Amino acid sequence: MRFSKLRLTGFKSFVDPTDLIIADGLTGVVGPNGCGKSNLLEALRWVMGENRPTAMRGGGMEDVIFAGAATRPARNFAEVALHIDNGERLAPAGFNEDDNLEITRRITRDVGSAYKVNTKDVRARDVQMLFADASTGAHSPALVRQGQIAELINSKPKARRRILEEAAGISGLYQRRHEAELK
Ligand code: ATP
Ligand code: MG
Repeated sequence: MRFSKLRLTGFKSFVDPTDLIIADGLTGVVGPNGCGKSNLLEALRWVMGENRPTAMRGGGMEDVIFAGAATRPARNFAEVALHIDNGERLAPAGFNEDDNLEITRRITRDVGSAYKVNTKDVRARDVQMLFADASTGAHSPALVRQGQIAELINSKPKARRRILEEAAGISGLYQRRHEAELK
């Protein structure tokens, strides 16, 4: 599975629809302080099912919606679409029928989040599982936030173990076991 495009609409500072094309090889994003570089990485994490407002540098999940600026009113929803090239058919069962996957998450004020894979409505858990099994989840060590290295060094053994488990690709397994034990 290869990320090919990220589209943001009303997400944080990206009020108008904005496409980030992710080409083969390395993609660099450069720009002055406050231009939205970290917001792009947060959008990627968010569309993969991140549900902790702190990971989005906000107090509540609705804080990802464009809050308005001097010349523009606030928006009522935020949407991020992640396009995935599934040409090698490596997506988990249930999502593996198509060459291209488009995962969409939309949050609407006072309503909450809704997810889609291509045109099908899915649950947050389905999207989280899709990425957990591919070792690229919202908590993946492949996504390194500003300041995260220092956090990692200072973290407790349990938190550090979770990071290693995600890197090893077994966190989806643990999540399923936990859910099975609750049933
Ligand atoms: P740095 O180089 O300092 O790390 P950066 O390019 O990573 O900067 P970001 O932190 O991604 O910048 O962007 C911060 C900008 O996003 C700020 O201007 C902030 O006001 C804006 N912003 C964050 N949330 C929202 C929101 N909900 N609505 C509108 N603007 C927002
Ligand atoms: Mg930043």
